[in-house]
Amino acid sequence: MANYHGPVCRFCRREGAKLYLKGEKCYTKCTLDRRAFAPGQHGLARRRKTSDYGLQLRAKQKARRLYGLLEGQFRNYFDAAEREPGVTGLNLLRHLEMRLDNVVYRLGLGSSRKQSRQLVSHRHFEVNGRVVNIPSFKVKVGDQVKVRDSGSDGVIEIALDASKSRVVPSWLSFNEEEKSGKVLSLPDRGEMETGVEEHLIVEFYSR
Ligand code: SF4
Repeated sequence: MANYHGPVCRFCRREGAKLYLKGEKCYTKCTLDRRAFAPGQHGLARRRKTSDYGLQLRAKQKARRLYGLLEGQFRNYFDAAEREPGVTGLNLLRHLEMRLDNVVYRLGLGSSRKQSRQLVSHRHFEVNGRVVNIPSFKVKVGDQVKVRDSGSDGVIEIALDASKSRVVPSWLSFNEEEKSGKVLSLPDRGEMETGVEEHLIVEFYSR
């Protein structure tokens, strides 16, 4: 999260779903497996029926936390998605997926979106041959994302090893030898985060 440095497993516990915010640990020693209840003093108390607003808010928070964005950034993506032709929810998800930090994560070059964001900020990647250190940089169809030859202290190699079980989506191609990937097309809904209920996010912002 841009300015948040506290514990993140509580986000998964709040949303009641794995958001994969901690990389390797999420696959081996997930906190949610042991503490599958909401954080805080009343986390174990039985929940009352959630209102429509509550459901919409949770859907928005879940997506925002999944992609590690602040409220203002997320809202900007929604506004841009709403201005574009087509289905607003799908446009929104595409904006989120086409961020450079997410593409690095999808290619398996970062163990989590947070780590990918840090690696991008530390100038470890180039897009079409030019160094880009802006995690929110929006990649386009045809762009090539490549690891630079600068030292990343083996972090990228470790992430690559750990992400072997993750499948690179078909809208990206990955060349392991060159540690580079190419954006082949816009992502389809089926290949984006399945736990996000974008129609509830649209309803949330349309109130
Ligand atoms: Fe979420 Fe990962 Fe923590 Fe599990 S280990 S609760 S998936 S951040």
